Amino acid sequence: MAHDVVLIPGDGIGPEITQAMRRVVDATGVEIAWQVVDAGAGAMLEYGTPLPRHVLDAVAETGVAIKGPVTTPVGTGFRSVNVALRQAFDLYACVRPCVTLPGATSRYQDIDLVIVRENTEDLYAGIEFEPGSFEADRLARLLERNGGRSFRPGSAISIKPISPEGSRRIVTYAFEYARSMGRNKVTAVHKANIMKATDGLFLRVAREVAASYPEIAFEDKIVDATCMGLVMDPHDFDVLVLPNLYGDIVSDLCAGLVGGLGMAPGANIGEECAVFEATHGSAPDIAGKDIANPTAEILSAAMMLDHLDEHEAARRIRDAVSATLSEGEQVTADVRRSLTGSTEGAVGTQAYADAVIA
Ligand code: NAD
Repeated sequence: MAHDVVLIPGDGIGPEITQAMRRVVDATGVEIAWQVVDAGAGAMLEYGTPLPRHVLDAVAETGVAIKGPVTTPVGTGFRSVNVALRQAFDLYACVRPCVTLPGATSRYQDIDLVIVRENTEDLYAGIEFEPGSFEADRLARLLERNGGRSFRPGSAISIKPISPEGSRRIVTYAFEYARSMGRNKVTAVHKANIMKATDGLFLRVAREVAASYPEIAFEDKIVDATCMGLVMDPHDFDVLVLPNLYGDIVSDLCAGLVGGLGMAPGANIGEECAVFEATHGSAPDIAGKDIANPTAEILSAAMMLDHLDEHEAARRIRDAVSATLSEGEQVTADVRRSLTGSTEGAVGTQAYADAVIA
């Protein structure tokens, strides 16, 4: 029987890379009934909201979606569709494997680590008060009266909620992931020396959870020291579990370690639903030119096939991507540049997908 999957092409390079991904998935022979729906700026124009009800209903019904990136207006305009989807379906675990692929020149070889990012809390919760707003001024006055804090006039305020429940489930997810994937160590990343209340809570819970997994090594590291450690010796790391904002930033750092954003897949997992997507954004600078690298999106689809218990098809996709990259002939401009220092001889997004399919 066909698997029902919602496909949200997104915008920018989204339509190109999701087309390439879909062709690769279809070539495995696994039957997928794709339900294609629009979210983001296009949906905003047509339905007056970037995330229409029918999109949410479709994801709720199938329980599985794969999406291309969606542009989020900076500073003004609608809030991130990605964040809204994660919150709507409580997709609390963002899993981003960072593995060195052949052909991706990087300072390091054989990197194999996994970012497990909390996806629903922290400064990403969207509790923000604009500078000069009634709410920001009222909150500032309340905190000044009750907490002896002082705020400069016109301050904007963002709130960072971290809960014991949210921390426990993400750290437990990281340890369960490590156990099921045969991984040896979990590193909890925080800034508890400064954010004593919020990150302090995250760290306390992480230590409690770690005690239930004596067979898996546990360490905690401050986020700035983690960044330095990742850049100097990424082989020191295995599974990293982080609150939302640090997870977002460290994910891109790790994508850079394995050859760039075009290579880094991801999954957003909840109890009822899972939404798969590349780590990168909509790359407006290269959109519509058939030059984007669809590898991250294709590998996100492999994660989706694993989730659907289609492990053989997932393995074949990973092998085909590895083979295409190691041959180094039919690769996109970003890979070609990192291999040869020039984009000469690079192929387009769809031609690369053809090579993977072949
Ligand atoms: P970006 O990831 O889109 O691009 C950063 C750089 O990486 C650009 O130079 C781009 O050309 C390059 N790049 C990214 N993906 C690539 C690929 N597949 N192949 C080759 N090169 C690639 O980050 P940005 O420019 O900061 O963000 C653009 C928009 O995307 C913003 O509106 C942002 O909010 C949104 N965004 C969406 C998601 C998502 O939908 N999950 C994630 C991150 C950012």
